[in-house]
Amino acid sequence: MITYPLRLTQGHLTLLATCPRKFQHLVLDQLGTPDAIEQQARLLQGARFHQLLQQWWLQLPIAPLLQSDAQMQGWFQSFEQVAPQILDPATAQQPESDRSLSLAGYLLTVRYDLLMLGTHHAKILDWKTYPRPQATRWLEQNWQTRLYPFILAETSNYAPEQIAIVYWFFQADVTETTPSHLTLTYDRTKHAATRQDLTRLLTQLTTWLEQYQAGVPFPQVGWEAAACAHCSFAARCDRAIAPAAADPPTASPNWTADLPNHLPTLAEIAEIPL
Ligand code: SF4
Repeated sequence: MITYPLRLTQGHLTLLATCPRKFQHLVLDQLGTPDAIEQQARLLQGARFHQLLQQWWLQLPIAPLLQSDAQMQGWFQSFEQVAPQILDPATAQQPESDRSLSLAGYLLTVRYDLLMLGTHHAKILDWKTYPRPQATRWLEQNWQTRLYPFILAETSNYAPEQIAIVYWFFQADVTETTPSHLTLTYDRTKHAATRQDLTRLLTQLTTWLEQYQAGVPFPQVGWEAAACAHCSFAARCDRAIAPAAADPPTASPNWTADLPNHLPTLAEIAEIPL
């Protein structure tokens, strides 16, 4: 029996928009995946880095977290290199800051790595432990980029135009000597579009949950979607055969065709806590 309201993160929204059936497998049925161990290791290392920065912020000892961990040392050196550039002393700075918003019967929650609140502007900073992607369109359109400023605008006095989200990439690219960043602005047009898309997705989720409780599984993506090719549930979903080689189903609705999202890469998923 599912109880309401469900607490949803940007990771849940990404899963839903990628494939509702995958959301069911991972969130409702709590099925493990063959790559779970490797993915968990990446998540754990990313979480340790966030913990390291939080301890640094609180002026607590960080040496134990850096000891014998070359990767962690590299990320932290990168952070130290750009810290004076990142940290704006004219703002109130809130590390690991949680906010939530009730919408359409769900509790949407975010955790900002660092929130910098100025008189006339607010910046959401997010730490990434992979190199800056060459193509950033997926980052501009993903649910983290959309949900984080949306919730800040809804839970503060800042106008959407006063909010920006900044991603910092601490895993150096071979061509770079310093960490790079990507700043994405926000405005009321994006805010209205996010509200509309969120409401539509959450309304859809309510329908799927009601059907699921009646024994109907969440919909799969259509055969034409690329999501199945790299999905751990391909065999369970009978999608293990390449669509071109298989007889396509006669009716295969593309449930996610009109949802504003992309198919995340493994690197993205690894950064997305559920
Ligand atoms: S195999 Fe395809 S339909 Fe099944 S969960 Fe994965 S993405 Fe969805």
